[in-house]
Amino acid sequence: MQKENLTEEKEITLSAENKTNGKKDLLKGLTFPELRNYFVGKGHRAFRGAQIFHWMYNRLVDDFYLMNNLPKEIRQQLSDSCELKTLKYITSEISPSSGTKKYIFETSEGNLIESVIIPEEVNLDPDQSRFGQTKTDEQQKRTTLCISTQVGCPLDCQFCATGLMGYKKNLTAGEIFDQYSLTANDYGKDKITNIVYMGMGEPLLNYDATVKSLQIFADELTKGISLKKITVSTAGIAPRIIDLADTGLKVKIALSLHSCFDEIRDVIMPINKKYSIKQNIDSVRYYARITGTRITFEYVMLKDINDRDEDLNALKRLCSEIPSKVNVIPFNSLEHMNPTGFSAQLQSSSKERIEKFVEELRYRNVTVTVRFTQGNDIAAACGQLALPLTKGTKSE
Ligand code: SF4
Repeated sequence: MQKENLTEEKEITLSAENKTNGKKDLLKGLTFPELRNYFVGKGHRAFRGAQIFHWMYNRLVDDFYLMNNLPKEIRQQLSDSCELKTLKYITSEISPSSGTKKYIFETSEGNLIESVIIPEEVNLDPDQSRFGQTKTDEQQKRTTLCISTQVGCPLDCQFCATGLMGYKKNLTAGEIFDQYSLTANDYGKDKITNIVYMGMGEPLLNYDATVKSLQIFADELTKGISLKKITVSTAGIAPRIIDLADTGLKVKIALSLHSCFDEIRDVIMPINKKYSIKQNIDSVRYYARITGTRITFEYVMLKDINDRDEDLNALKRLCSEIPSKVNVIPFNSLEHMNPTGFSAQLQSSSKERIEKFVEELRYRNVTVTVRFTQGNDIAAACGQLALPLTKGTKSE
């Protein structure tokens, strides 16, 4: 039987992102095959990789000394040569009005990122879920974790605070997963029911790390959140939507559509000049066919920009052609970012106009959810990430 001894190591190559500044091997972010190969390469039996994988991604433990089915000397050796933590908790804040909780974490380079936990009540019965209706006991409780994939964002969506702050770096797969790990350990693993890749950044511009993190969630040893409960939101990186479909990871896709007309989308989402609406619709149609999932179209309601009758009619037409639902989002103010130019002129559509959109879409049998504004008192609402902490209750 092969002796387990970290001193008898064979060299295996870890990428630079899997080395800490102190040159320890950073294991968080390695997939199951990578971790198994890592341990085999270090002279261990393969099951050691499975054990560490289970501790890291299922038990959400980031201290080798707590891994009590490993011999003490192995724990000591791993502690000396390897690292599990990728992010440092900085602070968190809870919205007194909605219970939305925003976390701020720091990467090893000193960059700050945000993750948000959103307790929601979702009414699946269309007759009971009209915009503005009082919530009922029949509504289903759901708690969604919104995670970031980049520090800032290189895209420049005019309605988004993250876009206004610019771009610093891609997060690693470990940093993406660790947002779940840290928030689940704090908030309660069993309470988080859904994950959306919808925080800071464009996930499909950080494609490899995004896919690796999804592979970790998908692994049967992880037993965390099922891929059916994970949604990747994209501003529309058409070729990567096709690539994601072909991975076999049947995660849900949300396309930030926001207009059915290129001349409008070119202005509010400049990435549209590179990947047009048609390219993106062709991609999500392919995605829906290959994965058997329904596409979500995100639609932020902007007064006199995308809430006209022709916008509504175009959206109805689109939804009749593709298995989809629409997530209507009242625009959340950017005023704390002191926006200039076009962003400064944006206003949310009126409640009446949003209601009209929702009712007309539902009349055409389109499933519509309205993302009630949650967390804007702590700058954690949709499109507001990157704002400074404002009011609210600091967590212990
Ligand atoms: S909406 Fe998404 S893709 Fe657009 S700037 Fe904001 S974070 Fe980036």
